[in-house]
Amino acid sequence: MRGPSADRHAPGPLTKDKLHTRRQFAALEAGQHPLSLRLPEPVALHPEAAPVDDPAAGGRRCGTCRFRRLAGRGASGPKCAHEAMPVPRGATTDCRAWWPACIHHEPKEGQ
Ligand code: SF4
Repeated sequence: MRGPSADRHAPGPLTKDKLHTRRQFAALEAGQHPLSLRLPEPVALHPEAAPVDDPAAGGRRCGTCRFRRLAGRGASGPKCAHEAMPVPRGATTDCRAWWPACIHHEPKEGQ
């Protein structure tokens, strides 16, 4: 599972992607799920969510949630399919497996 440090402290110029990553971390540190940036209202982290800065720690993550699904052909990556998370298409709404879970997290079968 890819951890947050590589994204957060990537060297080089401050690109649009890096700015977006920094905003996602700011949301996480404020107790909000990163997809909140693309929703009308912020969505809180789950009370049992994994910690932000330790990818090896236990706790709920998007990667163990039944709503994280591979999108259709041509999509950039896995998306959140929960009805309360109607995010638009595009790479900025890809749902990263290591992200601490939001309040809507439901474990996948066997998790
Ligand atoms: S519903 Fe599940 S996959 Fe979607 S953001 Fe919340 S924890 Fe992640």
